[in-house]
Amino acid sequence: MRKIKNITRLYRKMGQIDQAYLWNLALLILMNALHPLNGFYFLYYIVDSLETGLDIQGALTGLCLMGVVELVYCTLSFQLKKTDREKTMRIKNSLMLELQEKTVELSYQELENPETTLKQKKALEIFYPTQAEYMDFQNVLNCVKVMLYSAMQLVVLAVLLLRIHWTLVAVLLLLGCVSLWLYTVAGDRKFQVWDKELVAIGRKLSYFQQLATDFSYAKEVRMYTMGEWITNKMRSLTTRYLGGIRKSALQFSLIGILSTLLMGLGTGLSFLELGWLTWTGGIRTAGFASCLNVVRNFESALTQTVKSYMTISQAMSYLQAYWLYMDSLAAVVPQGCPKILSRDEREKGEVCFEHVFFKYPGAADYTLKDISFVIRAGERAALVGENGSGKTTLIKLLLRLYEPERGKIYWNGTDISNIRLSDYRKAVTAVFQDFKILEDTVKRNLSFQQPQGDGRLWEILDEAGIGDKIRSLPDGLDSYLGKTMHDNGQELSGGEKQKLAIARALLREVGMVVMDEPTAMLSPNVEYEIYTRFAELVKGRSAVYISHRMSSCRFCDWIMVLAGGTIQERGSHEELMALGGEYCRMYTAQAAFYREMGEGVEP
Ligand code: ADP
Repeated sequence: MRKIKNITRLYRKMGQIDQAYLWNLALLILMNALHPLNGFYFLYYIVDSLETGLDIQGALTGLCLMGVVELVYCTLSFQLKKTDREKTMRIKNSLMLELQEKTVELSYQELENPETTLKQKKALEIFYPTQAEYMDFQNVLNCVKVMLYSAMQLVVLAVLLLRIHWTLVAVLLLLGCVSLWLYTVAGDRKFQVWDKELVAIGRKLSYFQQLATDFSYAKEVRMYTMGEWITNKMRSLTTRYLGGIRKSALQFSLIGILSTLLMGLGTGLSFLELGWLTWTGGIRTAGFASCLNVVRNFESALTQTVKSYMTISQAMSYLQAYWLYMDSLAAVVPQGCPKILSRDEREKGEVCFEHVFFKYPGAADYTLKDISFVIRAGERAALVGENGSGKTTLIKLLLRLYEPERGKIYWNGTDISNIRLSDYRKAVTAVFQDFKILEDTVKRNLSFQQPQGDGRLWEILDEAGIGDKIRSLPDGLDSYLGKTMHDNGQELSGGEKQKLAIARALLREVGMVVMDEPTAMLSPNVEYEIYTRFAELVKGRSAVYISHRMSSCRFCDWIMVLAGGTIQERGSHEELMALGGEYCRMYTAQAAFYREMGEGVEP
């Protein structure tokens, strides 16, 4: 029942996208269902004309009419099939686009959930089949079409055969059904091997293929001479893959032979019965000749109905995954009427965490426990702590990439979950540790959606210390970055990209700037320079920093030390040093390290 629901839902949706597609399809199915009648009636007429009085003219007329009908059928069906193909392509594209749009809207928290990734992969399989091409959307639709017209043909042909003798239909149906039942059992086993074993092996194989060919892995692969390990892994997986294919093909071919024999037996017995009936005068020669065709058509319509049904039912889990995914995306659309932020409210950045708890999906313990603090408008706060203490998670909550499990976060006194998300995203900006630079122009990278004048862009680039580098590029702000999309794209170093990412964040008119290890790729001297000018750079906006280098924290109004997901210490640099706790320990350790390294800057 659910299978039918999935299919009818798909056709309803397709009808909404293009109503004409359904009409075209209905006509195509009807024409194909009635097509065998052409052969039957005209063949009967031709043989009958010759049998009853050697009426050559009648036979020729019958032949011509049969030809004309066939010609009209072929032309019309060619046109209808062409339209069907074009419309299916268009509908497929629009469904894919809808899926992509929804995925982009998906909350970060949902996207990071491994269950969502699995659902997404399965939903995409119907559009981009990675393992079985026959599961492709177009092929599945084609199977629905074939199944419908074959089933209709079956009814039409059964009516014709019943007029001769009911045993014909009984024999054909009985043996045909047993044969096809065997075929479905074999096909199902083949699919199980494919779905359970081969897909998993295929996924691993593509991972190793990616390792071998993806440039971003190239350094590690070469440095750690992983080549042989990758090749061995691929060899053993390929052997298992081929073994799986052989195993399923063997099972399929044995049962397949039996199934074909049974189908052939049904056809043979029907021919014999027709011959007997003609011999004993039960039917005329014309009936015999035209019924031979009907028996053949019956057999092929039965086979097509069952085979198409099989493909559809195997593809159904993918179609269902598509609807499940789409429905789960629809469920994350926020309810209610969120608050719209005015420009002033966006540019004033006071944040308050009130007893915030957060736990990752599936995690046993809370990553953040009872976090409370206030960052007043214009204040610069630093967040320090060992790896895994929860700094990045706290930032993700602040940026509303995750929702707290308990407690509240306020923006200028308003619970952030009640603020329109698009407005909140305009109120805070961030430079992430794993920032990404687009393979597009410098200008687009800086002001992705809000075009800015070139003067302002140069000003911010200079402030971030990357202006001279961009000036030296052949097309300045219009220079393309990266080589994937543009052959003459420019490559920036890690540190230069980081400066560009900082410039991009500083360009936005927001109330708060968040910087998660923004200077990890910069040399200590450049970092020091950026931090000493930091107040000037953030220009009165509130700021939150995460840094492993304690020198950056000294420039902040206050520092918060996280440990095991809770706030351990809080205060200014001087206060925390005087306290002699965790911050003091980290600061002293780094100071000693930098002195030893002779870096010439403080930790
Ligand atoms: P920090 O930024 O201080 O290094 P994080 O906030 O990144 O720490 O991580 C805090 C803890 O949360 C770590 O123990 C980490 O393993 C865990 N964690 C981080 N991201 C995820 C995630 N997506 N799913 C599950 N646990 C996570």
